[in-house]
Amino acid sequence: MKRVFAGILILLFISGTVLYAQNTDKITVYITNTGGKYHKATCGSLKKSKIPIALEDAKKRGYEPCKVCKP
Ligand SMILES: [Zn+2]
Repeated sequence: MKRVFAGILILLFISGTVLYAQNTDKITVYITNTGGKYHKATCGSLKKSKIPIALEDAKKRGYEPCKVCKP
């Protein structure tokens, strides 16, 4: 019986890890037309332009995290 319980715990752990990984893939950040940084939706640097982009894409394109809003 203990083995079954341990098995359930492992399954829960794995499914939780998968869900967490999926969530991080879907994080959206915002870039501007001119800047080389990506921002949170609430950052004041986004007044001129605000282009939503997936966090992974922003990193792939060479954007760096904003030092003000720390996305
Ligand atoms: Zn910012």
